[in-house]
Amino acid sequence: MLTQLLWADDTAIRVGGELIAEGKLVGFPTETVYGLGGNALDAEAVRAIFAAKGRPADNPLIVHVADAEGIDAFCVPNPTAERLMEAFWPGPLTLLLPKKEVIPDVTTAGLGTVALRCPKHPAARALIRAARVPVAAPSGNRSGRPSPTTARHMLEDMNGLIPLILDGGPCSVGVESTVLDVTGQVPVILRPGEVTREQIAETVGDCRVAGSVMRPLREGEAAPSPGMKHRHYAPKGKMTVVRGRDAEKVAARVRELYDASENACILCHLDHMRLYGDRRKENLGADPEEGAHLLFAALRKMDDMGVERIIAEGWDEAGVGLAVMNRMARAAAFDMEEV
Ligand code: AMP
Ligand code: MG
Repeated sequence: MLTQLLWADDTAIRVGGELIAEGKLVGFPTETVYGLGGNALDAEAVRAIFAAKGRPADNPLIVHVADAEGIDAFCVPNPTAERLMEAFWPGPLTLLLPKKEVIPDVTTAGLGTVALRCPKHPAARALIRAARVPVAAPSGNRSGRPSPTTARHMLEDMNGLIPLILDGGPCSVGVESTVLDVTGQVPVILRPGEVTREQIAETVGDCRVAGSVMRPLREGEAAPSPGMKHRHYAPKGKMTVVRGRDAEKVAARVRELYDASENACILCHLDHMRLYGDRRKENLGADPEEGAHLLFAALRKMDDMGVERIIAEGWDEAGVGLAVMNRMARAAAFDMEEV
């Protein structure tokens, strides 16, 4: 199959909408990462998404809508969910709610809840409107690879597998949406994103973070979100994350690990570049927001350079830092050091 890469103008979006309505798959930009979209109500289209990604069938998809209106056709909303939709939609917040029967079981991997999100990116919303159906879309990478934050990155993974990728430029956020379970008394973050625990608690009074966000699942522990049990965001090189309050101490340990390795690269904060002399290094930004924006592109770049060892400086887990550290911890298969 020939994969077309088209700038996401009105004509291309119309073509994309028709493809989705016909049961085909389309790559498209959102503010978080690029998505691989298909008709969420069409079990065949959804199966094709799992196949193109090589995604395990037990990992459910997020269903994207153009706005909150008419959402009760797909789920059973509640007052907490409604308040959060009002505050954060369109935007990078995914809400888990009891699902209605129109959503096929393959979309939710057999779960009784459906994950719903209204993206902010204008091309994403225009595509969903053009398709006239809710759009199931996981991140547009092959399963296990870092999520794509540019159309080119998505083409690297999906070339020949889908008919069309819409190019809307680099993603502004850079990490996937916050996944929030709102079926219980207190909302629980299953995957951190740009919408933070602090912001959610401010809006609805309280918010918890699932324990497995920053540690591997314990043996026999059920994954609150199935995506958490799979290896994720993995670069080809072996990665270690070093964290600590004292930048000099962190840098000393990073240098030590780098110097003991072959073909290594450091992933460090912008203002720490100078601490590493002429060692090979990539920029992880000046703050966690910028880190979220740069992380996946940096991991892909290091893959392209053939890097076999990645030594990364961590961020503090406050605010968006939690989302970046969640991705880094998984990319490093939880090889984390505190100094
Ligand atoms: P991705 O599609 O790559 O952005 O990943 C979607 C994330 O949302 C994965 O971690 C899924 O496991 C999670 N997710 C989607 N639907 C549900 C659901 N019904 N219950 C729990 N987690 C979900
Ligand atoms: Mg993903």
